[in-house]
Amino acid sequence: MLIRGECHCGNISFTLTWQPDPAEIPARACTCSFCVKHGGVWTSNPGGALEVAVKDSTHLSRYAFGTRTAEFLTCTQCGVVPVVLSRIEGRLYAVVNVNTFEGVDPSLLRRVSTNFDGEGNDSRLARRQRNWIANVKYVESR
Ligand SMILES: [Zn+2]
Repeated sequence: MLIRGECHCGNISFTLTWQPDPAEIPARACTCSFCVKHGGVWTSNPGGALEVAVKDSTHLSRYAFGTRTAEFLTCTQCGVVPVVLSRIEGRLYAVVNVNTFEGVDPSLLRRVSTNFDGEGNDSRLARRQRNWIANVKYVESR
């Protein structure tokens, strides 16, 4: 399955290849204050392949907070956050926001709530290495 998503104005877009086709897509509503305010609901497939494209990087904010181990790619033109990136031991990992999907049947989404507050840094990074998309291509056009 090829999943496309983008911010509202289309400046930040992605395609996620998910094979075999998922019977359901886990959708994790993060309870951190940033994700609550943005409605961030994340998914990943450790075996998936992600391509992120940014048309105009002057309208891109790489927002980091808390442990500063992840960057929330935020479009400064429309305010949407389609992708989070985390670089661990030289490798780029990512999760994508299911609320930015285009044309995906919402009944595929299985919503779960999570709370990572209080998680230590080492276990946080190890969890991302296990669960996040590990094949990430990132392209900025400008
Ligand atoms: Zn945008």
